[in-house]
Amino acid sequence: MKLSTLFSERFSLSFEVFPPKTDTAFESVKTATEEIAKLRPSFMSVTYGAGGGTSKYTLEIAKNIKEQYNVPTLAHLTCVSSTKETVRHKIMQMKDAGIENVMALRGDLTPELMESDRSTWDYTHAIDLIRDIKESGADFCIGGACYPEVHPESTNQKEDIKHLKEKVDAGCSFLTTQMFFDNNLLYNFLYKIREAGITVPIIAGIMPITNANQVERAVKLSGSFMPQRFKSLVDRFGSSPEAMKQAGIAYATDQIIDLFANGVTNVHVYSMNKPDVAEKIQSNLSDILCL
Ligand code: FAD
Repeated sequence: MKLSTLFSERFSLSFEVFPPKTDTAFESVKTATEEIAKLRPSFMSVTYGAGGGTSKYTLEIAKNIKEQYNVPTLAHLTCVSSTKETVRHKIMQMKDAGIENVMALRGDLTPELMESDRSTWDYTHAIDLIRDIKESGADFCIGGACYPEVHPESTNQKEDIKHLKEKVDAGCSFLTTQMFFDNNLLYNFLYKIREAGITVPIIAGIMPITNANQVERAVKLSGSFMPQRFKSLVDRFGSSPEAMKQAGIAYATDQIIDLFANGVTNVHVYSMNKPDVAEKIQSNLSDILCL
């Protein structure tokens, strides 16, 4: 199913998983993704080499979720440091595997990549990948990433939104946001992008922080602002894993309910291969999701 047909007036709740870090972890990650698929979310996305996962299992996991559990999937694909030939090969593999939705990303410029030889790189930005996917003739529904708090490499939000509009015009049918912990940041961003003429559905990305160690990593990775209300919760409950998990799930649930109450219809949960967290959030919203 193409995700563009899913985003409408009804609420959608979807989950993200990431491929294993090592080959030996494959079975346990596959089982975790299957447990999440059994919850029958609106769709599941599978990252490409993000969160420490390798990229080689993205397709296998996405295909398994789709074929075994009939859950629509979104396979991520990054282009940074790749050649056109490798990317074209990946696109064809996805097409042959029956994947219908692709999240087209540049990928992070890690310190290692920054120091490597760039002469073989064929891509500078995600827009180049989107154009190549379009040119390949494969009929994917394409998604892109967006940043309510501005991408860290952007000099200002105006520039960031200008490039976002170009990305959408190149062929994105929807955008998923970077995680944020203060909904006002999203509302503000939505106002600005609509003003800039970006009209595609926006999927709000919510990261449930379920242990104190995750906080530093999440902030470092995303540069997200941590509101005092959230910091207090980590200070008070961070030393108790069970209490922190409960508080983190409650905070994420509260964020999602506020979003749904204020006109956002699509929420994507960065569920980090944790079926229990995905299950709790979904059951907290069970009656709301039926509306
Ligand atoms: P781009 O759209 O290329 O934007 C990157 C920067 O370049 C921005 O500052 C933008 O304003 C600027 N820019 C864009 N186009 C132009 C242009 N034409 N000229 C000048 N400047 C331009 N990473 C992974 O490795 N694997 C994943 O699976 C993954 N999934 C993600 C999912 C989501 C929802 C999000 C939000 C991020 C994800 N990431 C993932 C991280 C992502 O790869 C990084 O944030 C990366 O730094 C930027 O990727 P992008 O696709 O947004 O890049």
